[in-house]
Amino acid sequence: MSAPQARLVESRDPSTGEVWRRFDACDAAAVARALQQARDAQPAWAGAPIADRARVLERFRKLLFARRHEAAELVSRENGKPPIEAMGEVMLVMDFARFYSSGKALRALRPQRFTPQSMAMWRKRIEILHEPLGVVGVIAPWNYPLMLPAGIVIPALVAGNAVLLKPSEFTPSSALLLGELLGEAGVPPGVLAVLPGAGETGRAITTCGVDKLFFTGSEATGRAVAIACAEQLVPCSLELGGSDPAIVLASADVNIAADGILWGRCFNAGQTCVAAKRVFVEAPAYDAFLLAIATRVKELSVSLDRGSAEVGTLIRPQQREMLQAQLDDALAHGARVVASASGPAGVFAPTILADLSDEMRVMREETFGPLLPVIRVRDANEAVRLANASTYGLSASVWGDEPQASRVARRLDAGTVVINDALVAAGLAEVPHGGVKRSGSGRSHGIAGLLECVKTRTLVHETLPGKPQVWWFPYGGALAAGMDAFLSMAHGSGGARLRGLLGARALVSRLKSRRR
Ligand code: NDP
Repeated sequence: MSAPQARLVESRDPSTGEVWRRFDACDAAAVARALQQARDAQPAWAGAPIADRARVLERFRKLLFARRHEAAELVSRENGKPPIEAMGEVMLVMDFARFYSSGKALRALRPQRFTPQSMAMWRKRIEILHEPLGVVGVIAPWNYPLMLPAGIVIPALVAGNAVLLKPSEFTPSSALLLGELLGEAGVPPGVLAVLPGAGETGRAITTCGVDKLFFTGSEATGRAVAIACAEQLVPCSLELGGSDPAIVLASADVNIAADGILWGRCFNAGQTCVAAKRVFVEAPAYDAFLLAIATRVKELSVSLDRGSAEVGTLIRPQQREMLQAQLDDALAHGARVVASASGPAGVFAPTILADLSDEMRVMREETFGPLLPVIRVRDANEAVRLANASTYGLSASVWGDEPQASRVARRLDAGTVVINDALVAAGLAEVPHGGVKRSGSGRSHGIAGLLECVKTRTLVHETLPGKPQVWWFPYGGALAAGMDAFLSMAHGSGGARLRGLLGARALVSRLKSRRR
């Protein structure tokens, strides 16, 4: 009888389908072994001075810079994006390493010490500690296979955690390179394990006993992960999908707006969580905007040749079929193709749609490819209402003159809003990233992302340990009267405050009369 075949995951070139690397998928036993190794290695890593961990990140940044061309080529080959876009991803990882080894990040992890503002607690001194969680799980998608895991793994490591990272089964090599470079930079063996595999490996990480799970991916899988975590009371952070609105105000330069929105929609062949997926244009600007974006979409270089393409293929044929089904549904319900790019068979040509209605899937679901519905609205109020009608709330953009654009941005129910640009917030290392509503909970990036990687604990010190507290037993009428006087002193005003001050003396004498 032959032994059961281990499941394989493959690095595949999306534009040719060529498989160029294979790995055994990690099963539950491999995940359990990695967890034990991480548990064994984490205390020494956490016990090292934080400056040492920051130096590891600095070395990692330099190593990645030295191997940036190799890294970008690997990401491009595995994910299908043009090398220039892959290099952008590499650049952002270096930014994360720099930010999380900076004084600003390290200061955020330092203990805070202070005297509480409560007058009753004047004898106390407070210490707030930010300590590592232990071993955290990170489950990542395929669309930014280096940058997305790095944006969570790097702060988790600098905070003193060990990490089990499961990349998407479509993109194991990019994550393995991340692990290799961090290891070379000085992350000790066992502290970071990159565990290639598919959904079963993700499930094993979710249920193996990690101290927190960081999940980035679709709403459907995120829900399953959240349920599994809830059953074990394991905290989880969810970065999920989006149907981001872009609002073009009448004051916008329609050429700039068309260029920026089209770039954001088609970057990475439209496979970006924070891409604009619905465009609402104020009526006075609608015709000019539609003409501008229709003209530009036809000029895009769409190709299977990654080296020359501006827009390449989607990562797998199934993704193309899902997007095509959403397009077919829109056309069946009366939508109109305004313009599309031309490209070879096998590439989903970027397409602009008009005449949309609410029942169409493209208006309600996430579209993960270069398909862009453009909707005419009466005014900014209608744009905001329709934009916020989505069940998602990841990010958004507003195009037009200030201060109106800022006012509109503040009314949008989204984790991040970019004004007069697209995508950029998710790539700024110091900016918290994450959604509202069904786009998830928790934040990555920035100090907020770093604080997701620690448990906050508090020590309350007593400065006069030899003295009893006034609020201890026995109670009595004097305590009640004294307490009321104390409240008047602390929170009253004018005469009440003065009377409180005199009355509070009763509390002091109660304290003095106490036996030690
Ligand atoms: P999926 O939800 O399909 O997969 C995400 C990860 O979860 C993959 O590693 C996947 O493994 C793994 N997985 C699958 N099933 C399970 C399970 N039952 N338990 C645990 N893990 C599991 O998302 P995609 O990879 O298709 O990524 C695209 C989605 O990610 C889009 O919706 C996009 O909007 C979202 N996204 C959100 C971002 C954000 O910051 N909010 C950023 C980027 C993407 P495998 O792939 O090997 O099956």
